[in-house]
Amino acid sequence: PALPGRPLEVAGVRKAFGGNQALAGVSLTASPGKVTALIGPNGSGKTTLLNMVSGFYRADSGHIRIGERQVQRLTPHRVAREGVARTFQTPNIPEGLSVLEVVISGRYAGQRASMLSAVLRLPRFRRVRTADVAEAEQALSLVGMGQLRDTEAVSLPLGMRRLLEVAKVLVSRPGVVLLDEVASGLDEDEVCRLAELIRRISDAGAAVVLVEHNFRLVLDLADEVVVLAQGEVIASGPPEVIENDERVLSEYLGV
Ligand code: ADP
Repeated sequence: PALPGRPLEVAGVRKAFGGNQALAGVSLTASPGKVTALIGPNGSGKTTLLNMVSGFYRADSGHIRIGERQVQRLTPHRVAREGVARTFQTPNIPEGLSVLEVVISGRYAGQRASMLSAVLRLPRFRRVRTADVAEAEQALSLVGMGQLRDTEAVSLPLGMRRLLEVAKVLVSRPGVVLLDEVASGLDEDEVCRLAELIRRISDAGAAVVLVEHNFRLVLDLADEVVVLAQGEVIASGPPEVIENDERVLSEYLGV
């Protein structure tokens, strides 16, 4: 299915925590139908940037736009309603929901958790759920987790919970997708399935921002790579340029 992809524009964003300048004027764009990878050493500001775009932190200065809309003053719920979906480094999967229900819950992103469990259980939502179930099953089979649909989601190993989060993002029909180290804790086979799913999300038209430590995965998936160091963009460009950039190799890869 086509996703309502929207361009993300970050312009001159600054954020300090006390005296610590986490982002020192960061600018980048992420285009619909493309994967933009955000890489850099620990503490360089990657997660802070995702937190700003998704409305969890407020920028000290600068602009964040989704399409024409300025979003830097919106709450996370409002940002979600602008079509921005994200994952967290620690998947936050509610207890008591099956794998299938967790993916279905992606359809109701931007609504409160209490609403969500009501929505999933109320009889009058059964009809809506039939279509949701089909879509969720499709997303699950894409990550090779079709047989696990009735398993309790929180009981799954970390790697599978991460895949589940990305499947959930897909069914939320996002325009902008922010993925925070989704490959960490995944085995090789799971990384392959993850890569396939991310490609599917971007081919369907979403603007994907991928924060990722797995350099191989970045080179395989990214159309554009943005390198952060100490809260500043030190390089950006297509992967084949970045992988030969001397400063990137020394700052980021330590070679
Ligand atoms: P990365 O994701 O690249 O590892 P982060 O965005 O997590 O980097 O961190 C960038 C800097 O901002 C670090 O110095 C970190 O300690 C600081 N930082 C991030 N979030 C907070 C916070 N909530 N409170 C204080 N400092 C923070």
